[in-house]
Amino acid sequence: MEEKGTISIHTENIFPIIKKFLYSDHEIFLRELVSNAVDASQKAKSLSSIGELKGDLGELKVTVKVDKEKKQIIISDNGIGMTAEEIKKYINQIAFSGATEFVERYKDSNADKSQIIGQFGLGFYSAFMVAGTVEIDTLSHQEGAEAAHWICDGSTEFSITNGNRTERGTDVILNIAEDSEEFLEEARIQTILNKYCKFLPIPVEFNGETINNPNPIWTKSPSELTDEDYKNFYKELYPFSEDPLFWIHLNVDYPFNLTGILYFPKVKNEFDFQKNKIQLYSRQVFITDEVKDVVPEFLMLLHGVIDSPDIPLNVSRSFLQADANVKKINTYITRKVADKLNEIYKKDRTAYEEKWNDIAVFVKYGMLSDDKFYEKAKDFTLLQSTDEKFYTLEEYRNLVQANQTDKDGNLVILYTTDAEKQHAFIETAQSRNYDVVKLDSMIDPHFIGQLEQKLEKTTLKRVDADTIDKLIQTDAKPESILSEDETKRLKELFEKAISNQNMTVTVEALSTDDSPVIITLPEFMRRMKDMNRMGGGGMMMMGNLPDMYNVTINANHPINHRILKHNDERGEKIAKQAYDLALLSQNMLSGAALTAFVKRSVELIDKE
Ligand code: ADP
Repeated sequence: MEEKGTISIHTENIFPIIKKFLYSDHEIFLRELVSNAVDASQKAKSLSSIGELKGDLGELKVTVKVDKEKKQIIISDNGIGMTAEEIKKYINQIAFSGATEFVERYKDSNADKSQIIGQFGLGFYSAFMVAGTVEIDTLSHQEGAEAAHWICDGSTEFSITNGNRTERGTDVILNIAEDSEEFLEEARIQTILNKYCKFLPIPVEFNGETINNPNPIWTKSPSELTDEDYKNFYKELYPFSEDPLFWIHLNVDYPFNLTGILYFPKVKNEFDFQKNKIQLYSRQVFITDEVKDVVPEFLMLLHGVIDSPDIPLNVSRSFLQADANVKKINTYITRKVADKLNEIYKKDRTAYEEKWNDIAVFVKYGMLSDDKFYEKAKDFTLLQSTDEKFYTLEEYRNLVQANQTDKDGNLVILYTTDAEKQHAFIETAQSRNYDVVKLDSMIDPHFIGQLEQKLEKTTLKRVDADTIDKLIQTDAKPESILSEDETKRLKELFEKAISNQNMTVTVEALSTDDSPVIITLPEFMRRMKDMNRMGGGGMMMMGNLPDMYNVTINANHPINHRILKHNDERGEKIAKQAYDLALLSQNMLSGAALTAFVKRSVELIDKE
């Protein structure tokens, strides 16, 4: 037999698309062809299970071979094979999907239809991205079928002749085009197979070795799996990573199909996060690690795999965003993650607290980006006090309710962004029995804003935003022992000593135990500048403004009384010294100012 013919017009539509749009992605030809081979093998299995495939099923496997001399790549399977008629129908009439027909034909039988790899849009014809001519050598499983050989050079002309294959199955032979000879390198093929075929459900052999794990754990039921299994699989996915903190096994079949495992990675610091660590599969075929749109943005920092045949493939991004399934998947994943965190929190609070600093950024990011997540997460979000204790938001509000309010009756949560640098202020707060929490990560400025919006009558103030007695209203506020005139003189003296327009000097009655001079940066001012730095807010001109500090002179401190008494050059010198000490305690003294301070200090010690 020899038949020549013309492939139906559909091809003319698809070739330009293949060549043009997927130019950078030529390597996917291998994914498509190996998937087809796996698909044909699974069909053989299904047919055999319902008694429609006669004879021995044999050991199903797919083999990939590179023949550098002949410049060929050959993908072989012992699946169902094709008759000449089927080649014409399934291969030549490209728009006609064999898989669809298969499902149609067997939809009422018990065969497992989910085993059939769906359409990838390009399928078999992606072979022409790398091959000049493509051959198919195949023998169908059907009784009395004759082997068939098909050859096509990528034009719409093809030829079918009798083949000489004697065993059921198909060889797809790619005669690699000159501009694609890179694919004749074994290392390249190995890399591509590892990327796309690592978890295909039928063994795939290359160079005598099976390159895949046909039964990855996400396809199993959680009840069959131990912690070790999850950890080992994590290692399989990311060979050089530390153990994950914990994981979530996803499993839904209605209203969409999705399985997978998401891992919370252990991260050393905030800059360590790597996006694109979640791999997206469709029935165990790797599709992409760009899961944007499928996974909520804040969960892209997680690792793991998601496998769903219901995610539309090879479609435009905007279509994906609008896809109803994708939206549902998003919601589902968010809910699952919230439930899992809640479960760990409830089951073992201590263990949860130990993990908190590693997961805080996920949780906060989630709360900021998704209101529904906020509603769930608010119950297991923790605040860590500077004495290392953890509190939920509600616990913390209860803790500070009694003695931390401002003049408007709002509850005040004091926080530090740097317990080392702001140590003096934290100590003062603690001396008044106030509590200070640590909010020192990159996401916290946003998180603070959100807490103020969500928590009723609550404000958050950085511990160095003002003197403590101004931040928190207290009945036991000390009286000033200076007269009005003395206060005025002290203020002028310091203004002269400091002589810096960005420093606003005020004299205030503080405790004698407090420092003589305290430098603070108002909360509002700092937030504006922070926002501006982070690129939000639209207050662009703020960026160029210097920080405007408040300098509070403690009216009740003995040193300040001495300064008043001297009221001359020596007074000014002591004032300078006290001011520099305040700068120094906040790491704000450097360069010439620091040198001058050291010199003056030596002089002052010398005089003792
Ligand atoms: P899809 O796999 O999405 O249906 P393809 O273009 O990849 O589209 O393949 C078209 C059809 O050709 C398949 O549905 C299948 O019926 C048939 N086919 C392709 N490769 C093989 C193979 N190795 N063995 C048997 N049939 C195959």
